[in-house]
Amino acid sequence: MLNIRKDFPYLKSKELDSIIYFDNASTSQKPYQVIEAISNYYAYHNAPVHRGIYSKSEQATTLYEESRETVSKFIGADKDEIIFTKGTTEGINFIAQSWASYNLKPGDEIIISKLEHHSNILPWIRLMQEKDIVLKYIPITNNFELDYKAYTKLLSNKTKLVSITSCSNAVGSITDLDFIIKHAKVYNAKVLVDAAQTIGHRDFNLKNLNIDFLAFSGHKILGPTAIGVLYISKDMQKEVRPYQLGGGMVLDVNDYDFISLNPPNCYQAGTPAIAQAIGLSQAIKYISDNIDYDLLKKHESALCAYLIQELSKFDHIKILGPKDQLSNSGHIVSFVSTLYHPHDIAFYLDQFNIAVRAGNHCAQPLFKNIGINGSVRASFYIYNTFEEVETLVKALNKLFRK
Ligand code: PMP
Repeated sequence: MLNIRKDFPYLKSKELDSIIYFDNASTSQKPYQVIEAISNYYAYHNAPVHRGIYSKSEQATTLYEESRETVSKFIGADKDEIIFTKGTTEGINFIAQSWASYNLKPGDEIIISKLEHHSNILPWIRLMQEKDIVLKYIPITNNFELDYKAYTKLLSNKTKLVSITSCSNAVGSITDLDFIIKHAKVYNAKVLVDAAQTIGHRDFNLKNLNIDFLAFSGHKILGPTAIGVLYISKDMQKEVRPYQLGGGMVLDVNDYDFISLNPPNCYQAGTPAIAQAIGLSQAIKYISDNIDYDLLKKHESALCAYLIQELSKFDHIKILGPKDQLSNSGHIVSFVSTLYHPHDIAFYLDQFNIAVRAGNHCAQPLFKNIGINGSVRASFYIYNTFEEVETLVKALNKLFRK
């Protein structure tokens, strides 16, 4: 898998002086195949989609719709269940505003968890504030995993939605989705999965899971920014209203009413992110051609295991996350030191050209829950090497042994 590094200009750029990039949970680097697909689109295919009668517009439409097809096959959905968004954040807001806001009534309950990213918290807080929906959190255990027993006790006939991350971006814990879905369905609750940290890292197929809504971001899986995917199952499309209104989503308009197109077009008003969709499709092709998910899991978790082992030698370091799970199947290691502020560690590592993330990782309720302001987070992907983690460990040893 490692010979793919040559495909990533960012990783071998002289200007960047061999950067060691460990901020993949935030965003991934792009192979030149993706970069070229985007620039080729603008150079040779640029035209509006779904509208023009001329052949260039039809070509652009074909490329754009082929991208939807590629995405649908990648996650095991039907083409018409794929809606292009700006990213995970927009996908979740979409469902909050276009489904939950219209279908839930005061007193109905939504369950999320203490592991969520702000994108899967704030839209539900607003519903709670404005529509009197009750918001409940699945707590976490001392080992930073979801408290599954507590979850089963939160569920009831009032639960209308369980909106859950498949993997915590802040501490790396991986959700047992089978368990979450199985128990939600006993109460006929709908399930939304924030798959931002799982798609492109682990084998994932919607056909094996009874999920109603799923959101992820293209930029985290080798694709461009400003493109994401929202899956809305065929059944749920009957209940989800168009998110935005305007050109491209309507069949017929009169002075005082209109008739929307069928899904997915009714959910995509305005000129879409055509080049980005094509770039995402190329990223997915790249992943399909180059990633063996079993190998990737072994590779990423081996990097986690090594880093956890080395960090565990220091008394002042605490790993935030389920160490065994991360060492067997994770891609994120989050840690704190009682001696150094996370920002100081990240700033220090920057001198060695090592990019890690420091802060609360858009998960403030989680950090408040554990009584810590933030952490240092190293997150791995397909192109990271053991030698890179060794360099990180050496740099940290130098700092900690001073
Ligand atoms: N959820 C999770 C679990 C994430 O990791 C992120 C990005 N850090 C988001 C949601 C938000 O994704 P985006 O900013 O691409 O919309």
